[in-house]
Amino acid sequence: MENDLRQSQKMEAVGQLTGGIAHDFNNLLTGIVGSLDLLQSRMAKGRKENLGRYVETAMASANRAAALTHRLLAFARRQPLDPKPTDANALILGMSDLLRRTISEAIALRTETEHDLWPTLCDPHQLENAILNLAINARDAMPSGGSLTIRTRNGRLSETTAEPKPGEMPDEYVCISVTDTGTGMPPDVIARAFDPFFTTKPLGQGTGLGLSMIYGFAKQSEGHARIESEVGVGTTIGIYLPRHHGAGAEEAALLEVHEMQRG
Ligand code: ADP
Repeated sequence: MENDLRQSQKMEAVGQLTGGIAHDFNNLLTGIVGSLDLLQSRMAKGRKENLGRYVETAMASANRAAALTHRLLAFARRQPLDPKPTDANALILGMSDLLRRTISEAIALRTETEHDLWPTLCDPHQLENAILNLAINARDAMPSGGSLTIRTRNGRLSETTAEPKPGEMPDEYVCISVTDTGTGMPPDVIARAFDPFFTTKPLGQGTGLGLSMIYGFAKQSEGHARIESEVGVGTTIGIYLPRHHGAGAEEAALLEVHEMQRG
């Protein structure tokens, strides 16, 4: 019974998803066909002025369609996770140049990292992607500037009443959060933001895959992700990853040796 319900919800989600993509794709195709049509009729009439403009419009739509399919394919063949003991602080430090280049100069980048952050077991490349995606979303939500803060902290579910709820992940977690002072999200956007292909961005600018991939990554890592947002105030998106109980750096070095031997 519960399975049936889940399956029908899944089919509904797949239906919405394919419908959404078909719609976006169709819009882009309409743009291409329309421009080529105009180009053809102008050429037939021997009118040469502005022909380049139609070619450019068709090209721009074709490129957006290609970008859409490219991201769809990347989503479909998502890499299996390759979890390793990971120090999120070191990872964030290593990304600071990339992050500064990604956000505009009008945005102040701050990092507030917990001093003795626990290691977590996750795929570091996926974590990096997730943080970069969150920074891009934050940038897009602050077109006239603001501040972007990346925080890390250790936490225990048993010591907090906030989400994630007990049972959603192990008691001890590392939280990596990205806070912006941007537009914020109304409740109906918060409710759908983790859905694949949900986007409020103009056609060709958003794919609606960023947050759903982040949620999938957190869940696959036996963690959690959540959104806190208020319109006109800003947004915090937290990724909660379970604490890794291991030798930490020592174990990471051992794993590296193993990989070198394998490769
Ligand atoms: P995309 O960025 O391609 O739209 P995402 O899955 O990353 O896809 O985000 C889905 C939607 O959630 C966005 O279109 C936007 O409406 C909202 N959103 C995500 N991050 C933020 C943010 N930091 N501030 C405000 N809205 C956001």
